[in-house]
Amino acid sequence: MRIGIAGAGVLGRLAAFHCAKAGHDVTVFEPSPPSPGPNTIRAAGWTAAGMLSPIAEMECGGPVVRDLGLRSLALWQDMDKALRSMLPRPCDAVSPLGLALNDSLMVCHASDAGSAQRILRLLDNDPDHMIELEARDIAPLAPMLKGTLHAWRLKGEGHLHPTEAMSSLHAALPQVNWRWGARADAIEPGGIVSNGESLRFDWVIDVRGTGASDTLDVRGVRGEVIVLSALGFVLHRPVRLLHPRWRVYIVPHPDDRLVIGATEIESEDRSPISVQSTMELLSAAFSIFPALAEARVLWTDTNLRPATHDNLPYMNVEDGLIRINGLFRHGWLLAPAVIEKALGDAGLR
Ligand SMILES: Cc1cc2nc3c(=O)[nH]c(=O)nc-3n(C[C@H](O)[C@H](O)[C@H](O)COP(=O)(O)OP(=O)(O)OC[C@H]3O[C@@H](n4cnc5c(N)ncnc54)[C@H](O)[C@@H]3O)c2cc1C
Repeated sequence: MRIGIAGAGVLGRLAAFHCAKAGHDVTVFEPSPPSPGPNTIRAAGWTAAGMLSPIAEMECGGPVVRDLGLRSLALWQDMDKALRSMLPRPCDAVSPLGLALNDSLMVCHASDAGSAQRILRLLDNDPDHMIELEARDIAPLAPMLKGTLHAWRLKGEGHLHPTEAMSSLHAALPQVNWRWGARADAIEPGGIVSNGESLRFDWVIDVRGTGASDTLDVRGVRGEVIVLSALGFVLHRPVRLLHPRWRVYIVPHPDDRLVIGATEIESEDRSPISVQSTMELLSAAFSIFPALAEARVLWTDTNLRPATHDNLPYMNVEDGLIRINGLFRHGWLLAPAVIEKALGDAGLR
């Protein structure tokens, strides 16, 4: 079948992957270039820290996010295996997605233990998923964490490296017709208009993120991140700070890099990070990792998360048209399971 996909974010690339693997003829329309730089208008997926946190994200997405997220963790592992056999890598240890499922940690300062309980009550307290750690168990998991914190281990959670994952999904699909610099100007069941050309498909998949606000009730929620170079800093799993004021996490990336994120601001402003956000993110990270004092700020980035009115994913399948949107702050976490469901409902897998 002929499939037209509008948007080459995480959803678009995963949809292209599965449709191409199933033998369909796939064309992807994307206004930005294949690997755009920070602070340009581009998929939210490029800016994301890449946390895969089905339990911690229940705070804002409840059981829907947990269940889709847990399914996605299994699907990311399958995808990792598939990409390993499709792409050249420097060595077997290198994941083409930068995937690492080493659990994650949630921590809070002793003075914030009360307010942390409010968040913990929203999560899945099943000990198979979340355990409170004794002080002596924290250091082996994150040796550079300040010693006076309360901590919880979230089993099976992890992270991937969004930039690597976006690039690998593109590189693995030479058979896909990638139309970079091509906006989908109009979308209907079985049809896309781009650059004045009207093209027909058996199925159209609309995964334009905030670019779909002309037809869907979707808004952008501003998020800012800071990328550090921290030579010699040892961290193998994401750490999330529970704080009454801030949502802050630190995620390790290859080459001694750390992503500190992310603000969540009800605004569609894409301008660079503010002084206040910079101070809050760095102060919060420094308060739990004093060793970050000598880290270097490599760059900052700002982007918009696509969100619906209830901040839950939106999916609609009608004859000839699939629309998926609103993956909000958990797009990397949810995308594989959401794509699996949508393509299954459409009979495309
Ligand atoms: C700061 C920040 C941190 C985040 N951290 C995490 C995290 O740790 N874990 C996690 O799971 N999620 C995270 N997210 C959320 C995640 O990045 C998003 O949920 C996800 O990228 C949404 O995927 P998408 O494919 O729907 O949209 P996008 O990734 O935004 O992709 C949409 C694509 O559609 C294209 N497009 C727009 N208009 C058109 C058009 N007219 N025609 C064709 N194409 C068009 C855009 O250029 C873009 O490439 C974070 C997001 C931000 C901003």
